[in-house]
Amino acid sequence: MKYNDRINVIKGIGEKTEKIFHKLEIETVQDLIEHFPRGYEEFQKPIPIAQLREGETVTIEASLVGSPKRRRVRNLQIINAKVKDSSGSLYLTWFNMPFLQKTLRMGYHYIFRGKVVRKNGVLVIEQPRIYQRPEYYKLLNVLQPVYPLTEGLTNAAVTKAIRQALEQLEFAKDYIPSKIRKEYNLMDRTKAIREVHFPKDRERMQKARQRLVFDEFFLYSLALRHLKEQKSRVKTAYPMMEQPECKQMIRDLPYALTGAQLRVWQEIKKDLSSDYGMNRLIQGDVGSGKTVLAILSLLMAVKNGYQACMMVPTEVLAKQHYRSLTDAFQKFGISVCLLVGSMTAKEKREAYDRIERHEAEVIVGTHALIQEKVEYDRLGLAITDEQHRFGVKQREALMSKGGQPHVLVMSATPIPRTLAIILYGDLDISIVDELPAKRLPIKNCVVGTDYRPNAYRFIDKQAAQGRQAYVICPMVEESEEIEAENVIDYTETLKEALAPGITVEYLHGKMKPKEKNEIMERFADGGINVLVSTTVVEVGVNVPNATVMMVENAQRFGLAQLHQLRGRVGRGEYQSYCIFVCDSNRKEAWERLSILNKSNDGFYIAGEDLRLRGPGDIFGIRQSGTMEFKMADIFTDVEDLKAAAEAVKALSDKEVADIFEENPYLEEKILNQTNTL
Ligand code: ADP
Ligand code: MG
Repeated sequence: MKYNDRINVIKGIGEKTEKIFHKLEIETVQDLIEHFPRGYEEFQKPIPIAQLREGETVTIEASLVGSPKRRRVRNLQIINAKVKDSSGSLYLTWFNMPFLQKTLRMGYHYIFRGKVVRKNGVLVIEQPRIYQRPEYYKLLNVLQPVYPLTEGLTNAAVTKAIRQALEQLEFAKDYIPSKIRKEYNLMDRTKAIREVHFPKDRERMQKARQRLVFDEFFLYSLALRHLKEQKSRVKTAYPMMEQPECKQMIRDLPYALTGAQLRVWQEIKKDLSSDYGMNRLIQGDVGSGKTVLAILSLLMAVKNGYQACMMVPTEVLAKQHYRSLTDAFQKFGISVCLLVGSMTAKEKREAYDRIERHEAEVIVGTHALIQEKVEYDRLGLAITDEQHRFGVKQREALMSKGGQPHVLVMSATPIPRTLAIILYGDLDISIVDELPAKRLPIKNCVVGTDYRPNAYRFIDKQAAQGRQAYVICPMVEESEEIEAENVIDYTETLKEALAPGITVEYLHGKMKPKEKNEIMERFADGGINVLVSTTVVEVGVNVPNATVMMVENAQRFGLAQLHQLRGRVGRGEYQSYCIFVCDSNRKEAWERLSILNKSNDGFYIAGEDLRLRGPGDIFGIRQSGTMEFKMADIFTDVEDLKAAAEAVKALSDKEVADIFEENPYLEEKILNQTNTL
């Protein structure tokens, strides 16, 4: 078995299963063995029901009291069963597993394992797995991998496929030179891959994981070095001069630029008017006002006679930028063109035409901007907004579209400068480290579920004053279906709980892009008062009129993610509020959330989160959903990131060339990896 073999070489993976694996982006054997566990489960002996505590994953051994009951809530089939042991009794709940009503038998003993949650004030175990006694005791005290899954694929099936691949694959030689492996005390790659899936014990699992974390950072650093070498310092083909229109635009803004914005604007101007090309990253927390810097740069490029474009990760965002750019540029007689995937073929053809003939001077859009059919005419500046959502590869694609235009990338990921220098090694960095002055600090509160009625009254009041609110729905891990159900149910609840006349709409990951766009646009235009949503959904747009962010089940989110959500409000002149609803009695949950009260600094928050969770929790809640590596986390694994960057830096050109020569597949692997960053 070879790395590039399709996964159907594995026994048990037929056409149908293969398609399901594709949903997880697993196509080759290599993808499969690099589908790492998101955690491990260590099976302990069953504990008495009387000792159950909320939030814990536990095993109980109990017998069924009565027959399981089935009920329907919308599309959801719910099975409830009461069980007891000598210490007490409780209810178990399963979703969409109607067959259990027949297979679970009254009076029989089973072993159940699952997470204890509180529902309507009482403890229940949701979606527990069911074992027979001998089967369970065989699993005791072994670390079982828990894989990211998708519908139609069980953990057992993935485990089995990976086990077979590990047995039959011809592993390639380790690409990290042994010198570096020794110096940084790294496990051999083949061994690390085996151990990370099926570790002998915790210690070896940690060691394996560390190697693989290092691995990702190593390849990443290698890729950057590769990129940088290709980008030799050549004179730019698009020299620019300062233009009076930029000054005029700054004068005409309804606000004064902050000191930080002015400083960064100076840096940009200097780059654009130098003999060499600009390669600059602008980092700034959400709401720091990066967009206006992009607008000024576009203006400067166009007034120098060039085309300029801006690429953003979602259509909603593209449309929003399209509107604000059209407004801003109207008085300068600059034509703006939108290019997104959902446009009809005819609309696209027209856009391509306008671009090619230079009738469009500013082009804003999504990935559609890097499609082959787009032919720019002297593209002098390429901007990517929300860079962390794109890959290095896409950024490069945009650059090579024009003949090496000036490049500006913008990102809101809260990473400190030292880290940014490594992660964006090929770029110069500017930081917008100041929020607009008139901005009122967001008021935060962490509350229990009993506060809900107050929160609803508060939303009523804000809506009566013309403001808008986001409500982020409880997060469900099991499936997008259940999550969608939740959002819909919660929306119904809200419609009843809020004052009459308030428009409540929802967004979830299962909706079509077009539906999402429509809802988001209506919200941006003020046609919706309250938007209920999951976090799966992009809420990255700027709605300065939204003043309330209410997050249900806040304890289930990473703090960095909550911080990003918070950034959706407090973007305008009005006082904004965040309500974090904590549905847990555990002291640690409240402590963690209270960090959000203490600071508005994204990096401080990420750091504190980490400190509280401790390094023991290695597969903790994903920090940001951005800059995603498969295994590594730029926050928790920062030391490894630094070490790997150092190691790559210390390599001679010959050593780098040797690595690529000995591992011909590496270049592609690197490109694929950087693609997801
Ligand atoms: P981000 O950095 O998250 O992209 P935006 O550029 O969308 O932030 O700016 C957020 C809001 O702040 C916008 O409504 C924008 O008009 C406003 N804004 C930007 N700069 C200033 C400033 N100097 N003073 C007041 N408001 C500003
Ligand atoms: Mg922005």
